Amino acid sequence: MKIQKINCHNRNTIICISVDPKKQKTSQLPNFSKNLLEKMPQLEHHFCDNDEKRDFIHELEDTEMAHAFEHVLLENIAINDKSAKCISATTEWNWQAGPRYYYWININYDKKDVLKKSLHQTWQLFNSIMPK
Ligand SMILES: [Zn+2]
Repeated sequence: MKIQKINCHNRNTIICISVDPKKQKTSQLPNFSKNLLEKMPQLEHHFCDNDEKRDFIHELEDTEMAHAFEHVLLENIAINDKSAKCISATTEWNWQAGPRYYYWININYDKKDVLKKSLHQTWQLFNSIMPK
């Protein structure tokens, strides 16, 4: 997983990440969702608007790695910025029009210092549970 680009404008930030095809979905890595929930149990209470209408805890077992990254980033922002309320984000991709294995996380949050710290923490958490 690699952070390719970060664009901030107005109230929004767009983070472009690319993933390893073998680690593209959480279901490709044994125990990934279990390990992630152990490190960050707050994820259990996340609201998630996904196509299958699944709770996030079930969605996490088989979803795009970038989508899991989005939720962990939101949680880290909420931990770092107690004044942040109702932060939301979406994860999108279009491999027909854009590069393959690239995802765009669009987040309605613009405090650059908090975002930078939260991104770093999210990155570290993912690295700690990703098999090398
Ligand atoms: Zn979601």
